[in-house]
Amino acid sequence: LIARENEMTAPQHQRRPDAFGDPLAEVDYGEVRLADGPHRVQLEHTHAVLMGLDEDSLLRPFRLKADLPTPGFELGGWYSSNGRDPGHSFGQWLSALSRYAAITGDRATREKVVRLVAGFAETVEPEGRFYRNYGHFDEGTYTYNMLVRGLSDAHHHVGAPGALDALDRTTDAILPLIADNVAEDARYDDWCMMLPENQFTAWQQGATERYLELGERYLHTHFLGPLARGVDVLPGRHAYGHVAVLAGAAKAYLALGHPDHLAAAVNGMAFVDAQTFVTGGFGPGETFLPIAPVEKDGVIVHSGVADRADSIEKGTLHFETICSSYAYLTLARYLLRITKDSTYGDRMERLIHNGVLGALPLNPLGKAFYQSNYHSPAWKEYFDGYGHVMDDAWPCCSGTLPLVAADYHVNAYLRDDDGVYLNLYIPSTLTFEQDGGPVTITQSGEYPLTDSVHVAVDPIRPTDFALRIRVPGWSLNPSVTVNGEPVEDVHPGTFLTVRRTWTVGDQVELRFPAALRLEAADPAHPDLVALVHGSLVLFADAADAPRPNGAELLAATQSEPGAGTWVAPTAAGAVRLRPWWFIQRHELYRTYMKVDPENH
Ligand SMILES: [Zn+2]
Repeated sequence: LIARENEMTAPQHQRRPDAFGDPLAEVDYGEVRLADGPHRVQLEHTHAVLMGLDEDSLLRPFRLKADLPTPGFELGGWYSSNGRDPGHSFGQWLSALSRYAAITGDRATREKVVRLVAGFAETVEPEGRFYRNYGHFDEGTYTYNMLVRGLSDAHHHVGAPGALDALDRTTDAILPLIADNVAEDARYDDWCMMLPENQFTAWQQGATERYLELGERYLHTHFLGPLARGVDVLPGRHAYGHVAVLAGAAKAYLALGHPDHLAAAVNGMAFVDAQTFVTGGFGPGETFLPIAPVEKDGVIVHSGVADRADSIEKGTLHFETICSSYAYLTLARYLLRITKDSTYGDRMERLIHNGVLGALPLNPLGKAFYQSNYHSPAWKEYFDGYGHVMDDAWPCCSGTLPLVAADYHVNAYLRDDDGVYLNLYIPSTLTFEQDGGPVTITQSGEYPLTDSVHVAVDPIRPTDFALRIRVPGWSLNPSVTVNGEPVEDVHPGTFLTVRRTWTVGDQVELRFPAALRLEAADPAHPDLVALVHGSLVLFADAADAPRPNGAELLAATQSEPGAGTWVAPTAAGAVRLRPWWFIQRHELYRTYMKVDPENH
């Protein structure tokens, strides 16, 4: 396990400092099976959509620029050869299909990956014509970045022939076109800065040392340097892209061991967290706060956004849910692996429950959920049902949703030589090797709709290892029992270590009770609050529903144990509140509510 990670440390680089010890290892995708529940529904649905994509349509933008025959039709939307960003999500879908192949072992999925790699390899030509005069994502840097991960995942998970060779030739073709120097003040300079994470991963997955060097080369010090010194350089920058840059910094630490890269990632994430909405979402209008007013020829053309309450008041499109969650979850997983700090798991859980898990399903014609809205009342809509003038099919978030769904597997569990970390409570089974024998860990229950998780531990023979259980920071009087015996010292905001000789049939019961609480949109706006229960934000019905005050919100009760509905009494009748993934398209909801802060 640890040996797999050590392969990342090239001989000429110093071993990382030992402040945190060896990082936790990721599990293999194929070691986890999701059981029934909304996570598995999302996984199976996105997998089916990707399997249904026409391969000629996927290859068409690349074939056109390579003067190859182009049978089949344009896919449509952003993806088309004459669209906003031709082929932008090809690499992400190749990644997701490769991960799905590892998860399911499904032969049809593997074969599709192999065919797509072979088809793509034919289109790579040395002049990089595909990347010249490219669309919105400058010089195709974004699209190349996704291809790096797609081709290296196809090599690593599927063993697709020619994947690394196609990657090398693609890299040769585009490198002369990528700007080395990124403007210090550019808002959208993140496509180039995003490169390192996937370069390091490609190297880790078997590409040559060149990818390690490229990863290092594109770690932009004008952004990461100030963050490492504790200077917040996020305001005004593109949110998703720069969280992906932070994930690259954390990955750089895992690869190279420079403490500055870790400091930049840790501080950068703290700056993000200081401006998240109650859901864990961030970046209204895809931009970190505060957003300065824009003046043109002496006229203010954009009044700027001061804080979260201001963004709720003024606008829509508060959180680029899918892409930003993918970047944030990846960053949090890396930092959890390095620091073993359970609060990174708390943040991942909050973002999943109140964000990606409630995304509208990806539609086979490319309709994709993109933005969550926190104004009042708001509703869920596909991109770009809000009426902006833009091609609306296959946006960026259609590329990241399949990756988020695949990564529930690697985000739920982490490993070290000593045992297993239970990070996310998702109905699932992990099968792993401990001391030469297989062990199965199965989670079940209705959590987070109830406060309990049942864990069954089944080693093939009595086996000594540590089971580390994330005790959420919000839990009140949490408790854990093993075969009915209470475990002592269960502290919120930590991993509880249960070390014993496990035998087949061992049963572990986790209980994480929570109380309802109100969270203000901003410290400066205590009168604008959301209702929270454990990891769950409870969204109030807004169609023909009375508006509860603070005391009424705190008096809400779950309609029955395990139900997805809470009910708050008001003088004008009851108001229904639900977790994010229960809210359907076009249903009106309120995230934040105006209350009298003196009155609760
Ligand atoms: Zn997106």
